[in-house]
Amino acid sequence: MFVSVVEKSPYPHLLSPLRVGQQVLRNRVVMGSMHTRLEYGENAVSRQAAFFGARAGGGVALIITGGVAPNWEGRIEEEALTLEREDQLDEHRPVVAAVHAYGGKILLQILHTGAYAKHGDIVGISDIQSPINSRAPRPLTAAEIEATIEDFVRCAALAVQAGYDGVEFMGSEGYFLNQCVATRMNNRTDEWGGSLQKRIRIPVEIVRRTRARIGPQPIISYRISATDLVEGGQTAGEIDTLARALEAAGADMLNVGVGWHESVVPTVAYMAPRGAFIFAASRLKAVVRIPVVGSNRINMPQVAEEILARGEVDLVSLARPLLADPCFVNKSAAGRAAEINTCIACNQACLDYIFVGKTASCLVNPRACRETQFPDTPGRVSRRIAVVGAGPAGLSVAVNAALRGHRITLYEASGEIGGEINLALRIPGKTEFGEMLRYYRTQLELQRVDVRLNTAVSAEQLLRDQYNAVVVATGTLPRTPDIPGIDHPSTVSYLDVLTGRVDVGRRVAIIGTGGIGYDVACFLTVPRGVPDTIDAYLDTWGVDPTIAIPGGIRAPTVHTTPRAVTMFQRSAGRPGERLGKSTGWIHRIELRRRGVKALAGCTYRRIDDEGLHYAIDGRDHLMPVDHVVICAGQEPNGAMASTLARAGCEVHLIGGARVAGELDAVRATEEGFRLAYGF
Ligand code: NAP
Ligand code: SF4
Repeated sequence: MFVSVVEKSPYPHLLSPLRVGQQVLRNRVVMGSMHTRLEYGENAVSRQAAFFGARAGGGVALIITGGVAPNWEGRIEEEALTLEREDQLDEHRPVVAAVHAYGGKILLQILHTGAYAKHGDIVGISDIQSPINSRAPRPLTAAEIEATIEDFVRCAALAVQAGYDGVEFMGSEGYFLNQCVATRMNNRTDEWGGSLQKRIRIPVEIVRRTRARIGPQPIISYRISATDLVEGGQTAGEIDTLARALEAAGADMLNVGVGWHESVVPTVAYMAPRGAFIFAASRLKAVVRIPVVGSNRINMPQVAEEILARGEVDLVSLARPLLADPCFVNKSAAGRAAEINTCIACNQACLDYIFVGKTASCLVNPRACRETQFPDTPGRVSRRIAVVGAGPAGLSVAVNAALRGHRITLYEASGEIGGEINLALRIPGKTEFGEMLRYYRTQLELQRVDVRLNTAVSAEQLLRDQYNAVVVATGTLPRTPDIPGIDHPSTVSYLDVLTGRVDVGRRVAIIGTGGIGYDVACFLTVPRGVPDTIDAYLDTWGVDPTIAIPGGIRAPTVHTTPRAVTMFQRSAGRPGERLGKSTGWIHRIELRRRGVKALAGCTYRRIDDEGLHYAIDGRDHLMPVDHVVICAGQEPNGAMASTLARAGCEVHLIGGARVAGELDAVRATEEGFRLAYGF
């Protein structure tokens, strides 16, 4: 009997085709829209074509572009793209062609930002100011609303003319169309506000008129907010009414978004359990007959397969996981899931880069969005290279250099690879970092890297072995601050705490409010007895999965924590302000709810049997504590490099061993990747 490849695969649902409207998608993986900033700057079109082409080549069925505004006011920021005229189509055709060349399909996402816009001419459905914008919008007149609807329709028609397989209207995450339907932002009393039917009129009219203009063949996807997670958001009944009306108006597919940008519920960061918000999408699947796409924290094929097999949604949308690995689908189909470079939901090189105006990339895949700069080619000559240290920097250079054809020996003094990744793994919510280790382990084996664990190799030995080059990636050592009493028995380092070497008491002072200080505070205050389940997560963050309350949020459940923790810093700024923009707020809220205090502007006097003596504004204080945990930054640990260099060896110093300040896994991984690319 004939058994298809799909049936034999471990992911039969994920890999099965699906009809959407009048088109057939080759599998169930949609690449969700991402703001990457690739559309700006030199060679923007070829960089986008290479980026999207790589994902289509990696097997994705349907790609949705970053948002393009239908008119000038709808832009997200000054330099953002619009699609308003035929003379702009050449910016799109090469991108479409690159995707079609690999048998993929691509939709243009049409995004009007409304009250979120960061430029000088903000318009909105009404004059209500967004809490994440410094300016209030000018409300559109009724005539301008008609014109705006026409702008959406014209943009869709132009997209089809450019060769796109259809369009997606962005109606979630609190953007303009989402603002129109929620009383939170729509206080109009004319025919575009008030009753639900009037509030949903704009998106429904856009879909209806677009279908009439572009005909039945192109796909119309609507990204619908399946739960707003803000006060004044929609109820389940309102969302259902909108969904049915969009279907009746001609939408082929509902792509589900959750949470407005100002929501204080983490929906995409690593602490959100995988598939935590599928409940919102699966609710809609029961409401409409057109395919529904689920998203958020689906980062491995098994997770996607289980969601699809349970019939919760028809398709899954992956965005960041395809930054991390463009070949996610092909690797899944080939039974090589262990080779997937998994998105760990850190947001450090994607969202956090975008927030500071940089082009997105990826912590685990520094090639992401730089495909034309780093084409996937072998090195000129195969070289014998020693890498010392198997932390993020060492692993990155070892694997990437081996992938380019070099022969690598990787030395690690401890008994396991990973370095500080192993510490991150101990932090509640950071288990995704384990995927990084699984990826590296698999690649080290596949690329036949000679891994020598428990080997504190000396400079002399490396010189004797006559490598063509040596990479020193020996990481950092904890900084010991110069505080009287620093050697008091109550004083311990973050390493002692996170490795479980000390049994930390109930009253704790943490010296340092950097990434490690916050991680340690989180580790020490994790509530006891809260199960590691999606339901418990939603409860902790005040999510109402029935969406009976407008916006689907209620008071969060506050749990009892096992310790009283206070964090200290010498500088005057707000503690934790240098944490990543997209995750720092989560840590600050979480720790505040656990009663953790953070003090700035401190001078440390001494540590003794009484506790920690410190001063603020010249006034002395004593905090009686059982332990003082030192998280005061790190010092480079790369002395071996100068010994090697003096002996005439080609030596490269990377990661924390080179500069410890401002070190994070993004820099470590990227330095390793760039060095490998130079060999
Ligand atoms: P850090 O971010 O540089 O913070 C060091 C802290 O120690 C600061 O609060 C600093 O504040 C204090 N400090 C510095 N020198 C001191 C001294 N001599 N005496 C007393 N206090 C001192 O370093 P880190 O927390 O060790 O983190 C290291 C790197 O790893 C960071 O870049 C961090 O972002 C990264 N990391 C990332 C994650 C993540 O998941 N994203 C997690 C953990 C760590 P004052 O100078 O004001 O006192
Ligand atoms: Fe995922 Fe982090 Fe890469 Fe962003 S930077 S795509 S969150 S692994």
